Amino acid sequence: MALVDRTLLGPGPSNPYPEATAALAAPLLGHLDPEFLRVLDETCTRLRVVWGTANARTLPLSGTGSIGMEAAFANFVHPGDVVVVGVNGMFGERMVEVAGRYGADVVRVDHDWGTPVDTERVLAAHPEPSLVAAVHAETSTGVRSDIRELSLAVHKRDERGLVLADCVTSLAGIEVAVDGWGVDIAYSGTQKCLGVAPGLAPFTVSPRAWDRRVQRPPTWYLDLNLIGAYVDGSGGGRTYHHTAPVAMIASLHAALGRVMEEGLEQVWERHRAAGAQLHDGLRELGLELFAAEGHRLPELTTVRVPEGVDSAKVRQVLLTEYGIEIGAGVGAFASSVWRIGLMGHNARPDRVELVLAALRRAMA
Ligand code: PLP
Repeated sequence: MALVDRTLLGPGPSNPYPEATAALAAPLLGHLDPEFLRVLDETCTRLRVVWGTANARTLPLSGTGSIGMEAAFANFVHPGDVVVVGVNGMFGERMVEVAGRYGADVVRVDHDWGTPVDTERVLAAHPEPSLVAAVHAETSTGVRSDIRELSLAVHKRDERGLVLADCVTSLAGIEVAVDGWGVDIAYSGTQKCLGVAPGLAPFTVSPRAWDRRVQRPPTWYLDLNLIGAYVDGSGGGRTYHHTAPVAMIASLHAALGRVMEEGLEQVWERHRAAGAQLHDGLRELGLELFAAEGHRLPELTTVRVPEGVDSAKVRQVLLTEYGIEIGAGVGAFASSVWRIGLMGHNARPDRVELVLAALRRAMA
C-alpha cells in the first residue's frame, strides 16, 4: 500500500533511510551479545521519545502490528471484562475479534466508515468498562480519530478505566502523546511511518495498566512478564525468553536514529505538508476525498474513484508503468475508493508530485 519505487527499503537515490536497510544486511550479533543489548536498550529509549512517554515498559515486540494488538488484549483483558471498542473501519473490527478471543465481553460502537470515532457515543455505550479501545489512524479509511479527547474523557469519568490505542499508522507520522493523553496501552508497526521492514510491533504500557495486567495470560509467547525479563531485566537480571530478531531491531534502531536526527516534530510536519499537498493536488484533478474533512490522515489518503473509471486498471497502470503501488479500498469500498500511502521516507514533495502526475496520466 505504501507508495514505493518498487524498492521499499532498497538502496538508491530515493531512499533516505539507508541505515535501516544497511542494518538488515550487517553481520549479525548474537541476541545476548552486550553490543546488541546496548542497541536494544537504546531502541527502547528512542521508542519512548516517539511515543511521548516515560513508560518503563516500552519495547519492540517480535511480530507485525497485529502482534501488538494480540499482546494488548492478551495481557490486559481478564475473562469477562467489559471492553468497549470504537469501530470505524477494518482494524477496529479486528480489535473486536481479538478482544473477544481473549475472553472480553465486547461492546462495539459502530461508526460510518470514513468518519472518526465519536467520544460521546463510546462513553454512552457502557458506564464502567475495564478498557476502551480505538484505532488512532484507521488505515482502511484514512481517518484520524481524536484519541486525546477520548482518553481524557474516559479517565475523567472513571479512574479505573484503561485506554488502548492502535497507533500502527500514526506513530512517527502524526502526533502521538501517550503520557499527555493518558493512553495506557498502545502498539504500532514498523512498516508504516517508521519506514522499516514489517516485523516488529513497538509497544508501550503505563504503570497503571501494568498493575492491572493478567498475571498468567493465555499465551506464553506474548506474556509481557516473560518478555520484560529479557528486554529490561525486570524481575531481576536479564533472562532468555525468545531469540530477539536482532537484524530487525538494529534496523528499527537505525530508523529511529534518523527520526531523532531530523526531529520528531519536523517529521510530523513533513508528513503534514506532504498530505496537504496531495489532498490539494487530488482536488485539482477533480477527485473527491473520502475521509471526513478535519479528520483526514496526511500519511494515508483515501479518494473516491471517479464514475466510469476502472479502479483496478488504473492501479495496474500505476504499478506497471510508473512503479507506484496504491491500495484499493477495503470492504464495501473495494472498487470505489483508492488509498494512497505517503509515509516515512515517502512523505516528501517530489513523491507527491510523482503520484499526482502518474495518476493524472493513468486515469486518462
Ligand atoms: N492496525 C492498523 C491500523 C493497521 O493499519 C494494520 C496493518 O496495516 C494493523 C493493525 C495490523 O498490522 P500488521 O499487518 O503489521 O500485522
